[in-house]
Amino acid sequence: MRDRVLRINLTDYSYEVEERPELVEEWIGGVGIAVQLFRESMRDLKADPLSEENVIVFANGPFTLAYPYASKTVAMFKSPLTGELGESHAGGRTATALASAGYTAMVIEGRSDKPVYVVVDEDRVHFRDGRSLRGIRDSLILSRILAEIEGGKGERSIVRAGYGGEKLVRFACVTTETYRHFGRLGLGAVFGSKNLLAVVVRGKKTFRPRDPERYREVYREIYRLGVESDAMKKYHLLGTAENVLPLRELRALPVKNLTENYIECEDISGESLAEHSLGRRIACAHCPTACIHIAVLRQEYENERYFYKTLMISYDYELIYALGSMIGVTRRDDLLRLIHRVETYGLDAISTGVCLAWATEALERGVVSEKETIVRLSFGDADSYLKAIDYLVEQPNEFYEALARGVRFAAKKYGGEEFAIAVAGNEIPGYNTGYANYVGLLIGMRHSHLDNGGYSLDQKQPKLEAREAVDRLVKEEMWRQVLSSLVVCFFARGVFSPELVSRAFEPLGVEMGVDELNEAGRRIYLEKVRLKKEMGYVPSLSDLPERVFEVETPAGVLRRGYFEEALDYYMREYYSKV
Ligand code: SF4
Repeated sequence: MRDRVLRINLTDYSYEVEERPELVEEWIGGVGIAVQLFRESMRDLKADPLSEENVIVFANGPFTLAYPYASKTVAMFKSPLTGELGESHAGGRTATALASAGYTAMVIEGRSDKPVYVVVDEDRVHFRDGRSLRGIRDSLILSRILAEIEGGKGERSIVRAGYGGEKLVRFACVTTETYRHFGRLGLGAVFGSKNLLAVVVRGKKTFRPRDPERYREVYREIYRLGVESDAMKKYHLLGTAENVLPLRELRALPVKNLTENYIECEDISGESLAEHSLGRRIACAHCPTACIHIAVLRQEYENERYFYKTLMISYDYELIYALGSMIGVTRRDDLLRLIHRVETYGLDAISTGVCLAWATEALERGVVSEKETIVRLSFGDADSYLKAIDYLVEQPNEFYEALARGVRFAAKKYGGEEFAIAVAGNEIPGYNTGYANYVGLLIGMRHSHLDNGGYSLDQKQPKLEAREAVDRLVKEEMWRQVLSSLVVCFFARGVFSPELVSRAFEPLGVEMGVDELNEAGRRIYLEKVRLKKEMGYVPSLSDLPERVFEVETPAGVLRRGYFEEALDYYMREYYSKV
């Protein structure tokens, strides 16, 4: 298996390559090896996430280049938003480019004393002066310039932070190939703190299976399962945006800072976006599904009558929730303008939307005044939000400085913690589905719906007892450690059964039985719990905002007692055992 790790030091502009066969043998790849590399590289787990002591690990997996859907790259770092484990996954071309350059992982350490971008060119690494590229407010322009300078279209990957990262917004993201993101937990701010503008990766190494005949058989099976699966067809057709109306009908769509669960929002549904705005669909490298939906927005130039620019804007369910229903925006063009603004700065859309929603309610309730917000924020008023996003990035006063540190921080400073909609410091995704969702966010490694799919469990089995829900969530999260060590896209999780994963290893010359896979998932999960524990995270009911116990969900208004029982059980059976 691919086992080379590239270690880059920004402080002295050096790099070295390590051969690490023991790492991939024991921890598979992706998230499994990223945890180990993060632990061994981060000298002080308590260090300030924006100091030079923080490290960034990128990792692909053993199925990268080999099989369809193995398209993700795992990023691991200390999160400047939550102050504990930061983990984010992105598609695009990064995983395949890193593998084609000959690496299974890349560790970035230290801090450059001037803006730089790094070019990984197989065995050589170049540190390019980025001073003239600093301060570009539109990060789409930055990537165009880098693409022009570095060439390699179709093969290389450009992984870049944006202006939000430069300004150290704690939920700034990192974007790859324009439309894919290491979205959550603030990797962009870590790039910014290191004076790192971007990493360009390219290479020409190819993949050769040990057993080509058997490989072709398994490959065809995965491909066929993927293209014939109804679930994958739905991702292609409307994408996750198809969830907007069903979740609203369930009364599970967070509306206006989670004060409500219903809003007239047909115009921003997946159906409406497809019908009126969809321009094209694109795919991550080596994916036959192409679930990335790109809308077209035509805008007239200011002061130039009849001259238009055409903006191509990617959208999905989370963006529609965060920059739509959560802030009461229900017009399609308004939503697209907001997504575009967030994209321009390189911000995490979920965190941005939740911060704006909290600020709006805080203003309505008199917790803060217009002196703080500068602009009169009002649910549904896209123009006020566009200005507020500018302020979030520029931080012209103490209020926006605080808000740029996330909703938990701002609410601690100004009040309104009971309606600051974050779990353990991470602004919530858009699923007010019931108990399993919130328990899943509390105990999940990233406090994300993707950790253990609690929102889906709520919909499939809404009446689970607290302990059973915890066991189911942990079991799911353990298996997802395997998928994210292989770096398989979670959308294809129905395709990659344990049995098929085991067979897919064989032509690569690796024996990995189903039991071994499950055991690997359990070990990786526990390693992460240990890491989070050492970084200071203790799951607690106080990590849930009061609002969660006030708003109606499909399971009714949520009871505290359920969470007490769930957490008590989780702490005893899992957390305390590492
Ligand atoms: S299904 Fe979508 S997110 Fe997953 S690999 Fe394909 S294009 Fe990327």
